[in-house]
Amino acid sequence: MGRAFNFSAGPAVMPEAVLQQAAAEMLDWHGSGMSVMEMSHRGKEFISIYEQAEADLRALLAVPTHFKILFMQGGGLAENAIVPLNLSQGGAMDFVLTGSWSQKSLKEAGKYGPARVAASAQTDGFTTLPAPATWQIGADSRYVHICGNETIHGVEFHELPDLKALGCDAPLVVDFSSHVASRPVDWSRVGLAFGGAQKNLGPAGLTLVIVREDLIGHALPHCPSAFDYKLVNDNQSMYNTPPTYSIYIAGLVFQWLKQHGGIAAMAQRNVAKAQLLYDFLDSSSLFENRVAKDCRSRMNVPFFLRDESRNDAFLAGAKAANLLQLKGHKSVGGMRASIYNAMPLEGVQALVAYMREFEKTQA
Ligand SMILES: *Cc1c(COP(=O)(O)O)cnc(C)c1O
Repeated sequence: MGRAFNFSAGPAVMPEAVLQQAAAEMLDWHGSGMSVMEMSHRGKEFISIYEQAEADLRALLAVPTHFKILFMQGGGLAENAIVPLNLSQGGAMDFVLTGSWSQKSLKEAGKYGPARVAASAQTDGFTTLPAPATWQIGADSRYVHICGNETIHGVEFHELPDLKALGCDAPLVVDFSSHVASRPVDWSRVGLAFGGAQKNLGPAGLTLVIVREDLIGHALPHCPSAFDYKLVNDNQSMYNTPPTYSIYIAGLVFQWLKQHGGIAAMAQRNVAKAQLLYDFLDSSSLFENRVAKDCRSRMNVPFFLRDESRNDAFLAGAKAANLLQLKGHKSVGGMRASIYNAMPLEGVQALVAYMREFEKTQA
């Protein structure tokens, strides 16, 4: 089998050009006589890789200078603990529940202080987003957490909430694991954003944290040193050994993003890809997506066959057509197509063509 179209939710498809460059540089990076994974993180070669990656990411995402970029480890799930350890100062935190990931964040934060539900879309089966005007945020809130894109339920905030307009001074924390770099970020509304790399940025092992500098330096005394944003920031993300190879590959992805027009161009491509798939789903008599139209994710598209007894036949046919990893998350069932930045339009076209054919032959 050659390279297939890979719809995995994560770890997920990578740009082929990045994989080729990594292969070409595997044994000897730029005449250094070493693979990147063999380099000291404190040597000048790796420092140059790191600095380039950080500068490229800052430019791509238009991160203002009063935000720090931290390259950490532990994934999105570890940040569910690391954020309260650094930001809660023992006070209460508010969570907007829009799917599995924000539910996990709430549960974990509860170990470190009072974690409250400001709003929840659970009664809708997480197919909508509660309007910000309805959120119940405590006046003593240390921060308000949202998941920008719910990878499992397929709902996405297409605009970040303006907490100040709601009369709330608390910082907004955004889990942007599964849509980082797929669209611009309005940093004026954000206090901290975090995400694992393995959905849209690179290999697993790297966790990105972008945090407003005034939120750094308030960690609880029992916060592990390696997770204290101040220590991490003071040491340029090298308080402990960072995930060097993952940072290198993410850096190649950032260069690929730049070569392809940056985040605005990616966002346009992502709109086109998502529209193609949703338009087909909405026109189909066999397939359906159940998310409210204005909340549908551009990255993760869960869908169902109205006749679920055909699920296995659908997946087997997809595999035979080189369309991989379409099975839905077990908590939701059905199918899911993740169409991150590195999924070309041709991949979505191939999926829709297969679904159209499948629908015809099953009629
Ligand atoms: C994948 C994902 C996570 C978990 O990331 P890990 O790296 O497995 O810890 C958290 N939040 C969201 C939105 C995700 O998509």
